Amino acid sequence: MAKVLVTGGAGYIGSHTVQKLLLSGHEVVVVDNLSTGFKEAVPDGTDFRHGDVRDSDFLSQILTKSGIEVVINFAAKLNVAESIQKPTEYYDNNVGGTLSLLKACDTAGVNKIIFSSTAAVYGDSCADGAISEETQTGPINPYGWSKLFSEQLINDAAKASDLKYVVFRYFNVAGAAEDGSNGQRTANAYHLVHLASQAGTGKRQELKIFGTDYPTPDGTCIRDYIHVEDLADIHVLGAEHLLRGADSATLNCGYGQGYSVRQVISSALEVADTKFAVAEDVRRPGDPASLVADSSKMQALLGWRPLRNDIRTICRTALAWEKKLTSQIT
Ligand code: UDP
Repeated sequence: MAKVLVTGGAGYIGSHTVQKLLLSGHEVVVVDNLSTGFKEAVPDGTDFRHGDVRDSDFLSQILTKSGIEVVINFAAKLNVAESIQKPTEYYDNNVGGTLSLLKACDTAGVNKIIFSSTAAVYGDSCADGAISEETQTGPINPYGWSKLFSEQLINDAAKASDLKYVVFRYFNVAGAAEDGSNGQRTANAYHLVHLASQAGTGKRQELKIFGTDYPTPDGTCIRDYIHVEDLADIHVLGAEHLLRGADSATLNCGYGQGYSVRQVISSALEVADTKFAVAEDVRRPGDPASLVADSSKMQALLGWRPLRNDIRTICRTALAWEKKLTSQIT
């Protein structure tokens, strides 16, 4: 059992991962500045430290004093549209945060890092077929670039030291804990499944389809949606992989199954309590037509098998969580 530092552990994916780490018997310290995370998302039994990942001294002190063996870095900004409006903020947070973490790890002698990256590093380079880690990268928005630059920093640091890393490139993360204990709390999250869940509980009157003229079978964008608990399991396996002394790797995380925006909306409507209107709108800037993962490398290396790879499970758990949030507020 290991001591793990989770930065951004009060966020959506981070907090689900903390739950899974604790269940696997690991000790967890969470660092989060609560800019988008929620203290109440951090499970009991976690050592919570309020602070910013860009504060390298703060991090290195925690790493040293808590005897951390591996760091999982979720702390980042992740809204594509916002990254186009505020690129410098994205580079400051995401690239600056990675640099600060690398310095802190170097100072504290911690040499194992799990890093959250994204399918946005592939940009529009995919169109036909699934994307493997060898697919040419080429982000089309500052968010994607901030993650690709961060990957490069980690890669260079590893070449110059004994640092080992696992970079996970997430496709579309969605859904909520099946036991109803956790889910997406950010009220203004803009992701499709989240918005569809809000519509399904009557919090939103209408859902918009951003672009119906993409070169896809039904004209809407295709994405590979992965359940947040499956992704959390992957992180535990990744950390344990490094703790066993394994080599660095960059790995895609998805199911290899794409759904169009229309297909997701139709699943969301199937599970919804309240039917909602769907309107067609223009394309959203920065959206690639199709992103579907080839995650065979990750599955082979970590021995991971998907447990929740069904778009209805994703929509159902997201809706149940949204209902729970609503009942807590009212
Ligand atoms: N999308 C949409 N309506 C919405 C939100 C998203 O049509 O209200 C589309 C979006 O344009 C993209 C897909 O759904 O094609 C997935 O978007 P999301 O924001 O969930 O994730 P992203 O792929 O941008 O990380």
